[in-house]
Amino acid sequence: MRTGTVRCGTTDPLVVGAGVGGLTAAVALAAHGLSCTVVERAPALAASGYGIQLPPNATRVLRELGVDLAPVSLRPEAREIRRWSDGALLGRIPLGDAALERYGAPYLTLRRADLLRGLFRNVRVHFGQTYAARTDSMLVVGADGLNSTVRGMLTDDAPVDVGYTAYRAVVKAAAPPVVTVWLGPGAHAVAYPVPGGLNLVAVTATGLEAFHGWHAPVRDLVKQAGRGFALRTRPPLPAWHRDGVVVIGDAAHPMPPFLAQGAAQAIEDAAALPEHLDDLAAFEALRRPRAERVAAAGAAGGTDYHLPDGPGQRQRDERIAASALPDQDWLFT
Ligand SMILES: Cc1cc2nc3c(=O)[nH]c(=O)nc-3n(C[C@H](O)[C@H](O)[C@H](O)COP(=O)(O)OP(=O)(O)OC[C@H]3O[C@@H](n4cnc5c(N)ncnc54)[C@H](O)[C@@H]3O)c2cc1C
Repeated sequence: MRTGTVRCGTTDPLVVGAGVGGLTAAVALAAHGLSCTVVERAPALAASGYGIQLPPNATRVLRELGVDLAPVSLRPEAREIRRWSDGALLGRIPLGDAALERYGAPYLTLRRADLLRGLFRNVRVHFGQTYAARTDSMLVVGADGLNSTVRGMLTDDAPVDVGYTAYRAVVKAAAPPVVTVWLGPGAHAVAYPVPGGLNLVAVTATGLEAFHGWHAPVRDLVKQAGRGFALRTRPPLPAWHRDGVVVIGDAAHPMPPFLAQGAAQAIEDAAALPEHLDDLAAFEALRRPRAERVAAAGAAGGTDYHLPDGPGQRQRDERIAASALPDQDWLFT
């Protein structure tokens, strides 16, 4: 069913939001033989053509759930970190075959719309339904993102700006099959190929002028970026659940995108949920330390990525030069 009145069975979980977390939760529940109702306020599946990186910790989960993204994704060979002024290579972490062999699952880049479509198969979503208040379903799973209504049933906090603006684009450009990250004073930019284009995310605290004087290929890319939007997060929740209400993904633990792990953590949450429907405290105990560690590492990334040239930047660059794939084990496993 795509539209219409929501009739929730009193025993079926109600999943609020058909984003990455909500759709993965529905797929995971079905894999456990459980049905659910999914409500989504948008009139149809969000068709964003922007890209997303899916690290092995996410692709492993999706593969186990039978979600095959191979036909709609690319497998970058490496992540290369480069210097802002001249594009000099600071460090390279192999992905491609190396990540597949080490983690048993690939590092993928793809379009967000294709990820959602891949998850959407076999999931019933009631589109055009905005969840506003508790219904009679036994369990409400808030997968409704940063501005979560369900979270409002657990706390009265509000999203806060992290102080950075992100600018995105998918451009037609010949691109090497790698994720490239340029680091510089007050800004960074990330570019990676997705089917049919090169996805760019530029992040600064001071507007796109921050890229003035950067290596020309970066400037040329950044010129094509669209309007910026403020990156926002929320403080850690006192508890992820109460009285049959639980939150997952950005509704539970929004994080700045510096580690490219927000959707991956939503996927991990969703996959862990079905086994803990009767014990949400155990679900939180399992997932919270992991998600909060990832969020904290990502938040620190903002400062580290944007260091002005000087001793701190040189120390950071030495760390980057020395880093290798095993340093990602805690994240990708
Ligand atoms: C610039 C940028 C780049 C990023 N890159 C990456 C990356 O490369 N890799 C990665 O893993 N993560 C990345 N992320 C993070 C990732 O996008 C999010 O963490 C992820 O989308 C969260 O998924 P979610 O399902 O929790 O929430 P959302 O994707 O926000 O989905 C929530 C859904 O709930 C619906 N909804 C909201 N309220 C209601 C309501 N009241 N009733 C019904 N429906 C409702 C919304 O319409 C939406 O469809 C990036 C984020 C940004 C900003």
